[in-house]
Amino acid sequence: MKCISCGGEMKEKLVEHKELGISLGKFPAMSCSKCGEKYYDSSAVDRIQAASKKAGLFGIAGRVKAAKIGNSIAIRVPKEIAEAVHLKPGSEVLMHSENRKIIAEVV
Ligand SMILES: [Zn+2]
Repeated sequence: MKCISCGGEMKEKLVEHKELGISLGKFPAMSCSKCGEKYYDSSAVDRIQAASKKAGLFGIAGRVKAAKIGNSIAIRVPKEIAEAVHLKPGSEVLMHSENRKIIAEVV
């Protein structure tokens, strides 16, 4: 099996799956030795979904609209996500971008 992203060789291995920065455990996946892209089979997806529900994280990722504040863009963090990552008003957050994603880490 070849990687869809880079054409690298895919190997089965146990990979840690995180949602909202919280580890849900390790699951078998086909993982690319070159770029790290990973694909879960349907039984692993079911187990991840079950673990996500158990952790109270399932379905809380949602769409929000960005707003303009001065020269900055503000994004509201839904209450459930804020609680999951212990984000409170006044919390310090380290932010960087990665492949069109915004990674915000509560410190
Ligand atoms: Zn790859």
